[in-house]
Amino acid sequence: MEEIRCIGCGSLIQSDNIKDPGYVPSSKLNSEEDIVCRRCFRLKNYNEITPLSITKDDYFNIIGKIGNEDSLIVKIIDIFDIEGTLIPQISKLTNHNDMVVIANKLDLLPKSIKESKLHHHLNKMIRDNNLKPLKIFLMSAKKNKNIDMIMDEIMKLAGKRDIYIVGATNVGKSTFINSLLKSYAGSLEDVITVSSVAGTTLDLIKIPFGDHFIIDTPGLINDNQITHYLSQKGLKAVTPKKEIKPVTFQLKAEQTLFFGGLVRIDFVSGADTSFTCYTSEFLKIHRTKLENADELYSNHIGKLLAPPYADDTPIELVSHNFFSNSNNKQDIVLPGLGFVSFKGNVKIVVHTKKGTIPYLRDALI
Ligand code: GDP
Repeated sequence: MEEIRCIGCGSLIQSDNIKDPGYVPSSKLNSEEDIVCRRCFRLKNYNEITPLSITKDDYFNIIGKIGNEDSLIVKIIDIFDIEGTLIPQISKLTNHNDMVVIANKLDLLPKSIKESKLHHHLNKMIRDNNLKPLKIFLMSAKKNKNIDMIMDEIMKLAGKRDIYIVGATNVGKSTFINSLLKSYAGSLEDVITVSSVAGTTLDLIKIPFGDHFIIDTPGLINDNQITHYLSQKGLKAVTPKKEIKPVTFQLKAEQTLFFGGLVRIDFVSGADTSFTCYTSEFLKIHRTKLENADELYSNHIGKLLAPPYADDTPIELVSHNFFSNSNNKQDIVLPGLGFVSFKGNVKIVVHTKKGTIPYLRDALI
């Protein structure tokens, strides 16, 4: 097929994935006119940033170039998958430029949790990954919580430097930047510019902001997240819309929980234990006996146990063993879906999509 490129950013035009560079809906492909990708179109017409994700090699290539400048890096992470969205390599690649970390999606956590306690946990997790940010913030980009305060602080820390917004896909980078654009819409008309990154077809979006540029970078594809493999319908069914109301199951050994058909947690051995699930209100959790779990799965996957739905690509589950004998509460993180807290001397087996890896940590809450 003939190669068609976007006349805005030069990306190869494609209709397969809305978050990849060069996306145009297939209905628009037959037009005789010059083609502009969806991202350039929205940027030009609405001053709106749309999310863009790229592969690891391209990503680290682009981020590496930031290391040549003295800038402030603002890294956005997802409070629901902290470790999975930290991308610790960014520090070295950017020559240890000053960094702040913003943990986003605060609105989804139960309001009863004190922000000071969250800060404490976050701080520990981030430092355990050998990162030394100047500051750590909590935010809800969607609900506009803490954004003004964070921007004030960031401006002070940046001094005269430009500010790069970095992060994995789906952490809320575009939502954050669009919220900034809306707040300052009057003064920003027609001023967004696009600057090319040498050696790639990708462009960074530069937004003048006071004396600085705020620069949007593409997101690193997060293929450890179970959500990465879902259809639009599936994604909708696992994305929480509001504050999560945790659901607790009192389990005996040899019982199993299914989270739709995406995750299965077998409580193999240990005294009776409470498992508190912090996942979307839309994701159905089914309890069954371990001995019936295989049969339930093969009879009901795609229907009672969904997503994935019957017409989605089937997923292969693989098992991960966990032993915990901590007196402190622990979380099993189900990347992209949420987490499950428990305490005590237990053996559990977590089945997740092949290629996604759940992990154990000290409880966030
Ligand atoms: P990007 O890939 O990092 O640019 O992420 P997006 O801005 O596209 O956001 C990814 C998803 O997370 C979208 O469904 C957003 O609506 C959602 N999202 C972003 N910020 C928040 C937030 O603060 N709270 C909640 N609940 N959802 C958010």
